[in-house]
Amino acid sequence: MKRIVLFGYRGTGKTAIGTVLARRLGIAFIDTDELVEKRSGQTIPEIFRNEGERRFRILEREVISSLPSSDCIVSTGGGVVMDPAKMEQLRAASIGVLLHADHATIGRRLARSPRPPLTGLPPEEEIAHVIASRRCNYAAAADFCVDTSRTSTEQAADNILCLLDKGTVFAPTRESVFRWFAASPLPVQEREQMKSLLVGTRYDPQIRFLGVAGCPCGHSKGPLLFNRLFEKYQLNCHYTRFWDPSIQTIMEKAREIDAKGLSVTIPFKQDIMALLDEIDESARKIGAVNTVVFACEKTYGSNTDWQGIRKPLENLAGSCAVLLGAGGVAAAAAYALLDLDMEVIILNRTPRKAQALAKRFGCSWRTWDAFDGITPDLVVNATPVGMDPDTSSPVRDDQLKKEMTVFDLVYTPPVTPFIAAARRAGCKTITGTEVFIHQAREQFRLFFGIDVPETVIREILA
Ligand code: NAP
Repeated sequence: MKRIVLFGYRGTGKTAIGTVLARRLGIAFIDTDELVEKRSGQTIPEIFRNEGERRFRILEREVISSLPSSDCIVSTGGGVVMDPAKMEQLRAASIGVLLHADHATIGRRLARSPRPPLTGLPPEEEIAHVIASRRCNYAAAADFCVDTSRTSTEQAADNILCLLDKGTVFAPTRESVFRWFAASPLPVQEREQMKSLLVGTRYDPQIRFLGVAGCPCGHSKGPLLFNRLFEKYQLNCHYTRFWDPSIQTIMEKAREIDAKGLSVTIPFKQDIMALLDEIDESARKIGAVNTVVFACEKTYGSNTDWQGIRKPLENLAGSCAVLLGAGGVAAAAAYALLDLDMEVIILNRTPRKAQALAKRFGCSWRTWDAFDGITPDLVVNATPVGMDPDTSSPVRDDQLKKEMTVFDLVYTPPVTPFIAAARRAGCKTITGTEVFIHQAREQFRLFFGIDVPETVIREILA
């Protein structure tokens, strides 16, 4: 039997429910906090007081490394979700169940607990504050979410056993969603996989679905990358393509199969925002969402494109950048460049749009032909110029100077005419593939709380 790992804030019932589950299933119950106390010969408050939180985290890591890989129920400490290395170990070949409860219920339960506070805030404020700060991490830990606010321990255990046995999507829904996938332009092999997983021999009530939401999205490398990562990290998940002209329909189908997450691509990055419950600050400022996580009946939107653009530019912080284009991806680029304290000058074919974007981000703008009067350290192309089958470059060859770094966000072809020209001119170059690599890494962390080494993604995509 697979290992079941219970995650959640303190007071959500992990120990009590875990004990009942273990008894019902006739397998071992392991509480990582209790093991830490046993091994150290101190209570957790004593460890914090005598040796500090760092020591506690080290002990917790040792305990997690020594857990059996099957036939047990594991109850974890409330803060474990913040550590990607521990999440990698806890999520492997396991079912992650996130227990949650409303704040008032948690407050009542914790009033009887001897545990020391985590902050200097009053108890109710502390609960709201800590849960909000860990919200993404809890969502990432969850294969399934169970609300324990109004259930007894026995009922909560029943609910968990029922969803592990029957899943969350019943046969008629799986059949109707499969008909929708079958009618979409999904590549034949991927359609066969979905058939087998939803209505065929590989149906598994515990599998979770993710996918890229777009139209078109046949070009996406998401299925290749994420499905290989699921194998590597032993996650019982499948990544597919939600390919439809309507984002409303895609969201409806994603909910029907209780999807765990979506990567969002053209043309939905803006439109999806109106359909989500919560959107993080950077996505709101950029005005686009490329990642959706479903957890506890809610939808959470983030933007990882800007991190994909920022990461390869870290060593250019503080320099002067020309940003070509003023569309969706240019907004993410402007946000990333400004986050690196760069001076940003936006040039766009339609000046009014350059002006509007510059106003939103408090940077400057010029008309497209003003390039000659600027000597930037960095040029970022955020237009489709040079994207297959276009063979043109957004700037003339004679405008490129060897001191410049050229970053082309276009990634089809991998070496664009702009990148080729920049290499001939002796410039440093960064290709659009880099954006995909780094944004996907961030996306995987939002989906599962695990940090994938960059080299692993490069190997898969090579
Ligand atoms: P968008 O919202 O449609 O914006 C396109 C921008 O390019 C607009 O500013 C537009 O100017 C300008 N433009 C279009 N054709 C042009 C031309 N022939 N000459 C000069 N400027 C032109 O598109 P987007 O979502 O920002 O995407 C732009 C490109 O970024 C995509 O084509 C894609 O190749 C690339 N991209 C890469 C990644 C990655 O992961 N590497 C991710 C997303 C996008 P006007 O305002 O004058 O129309």
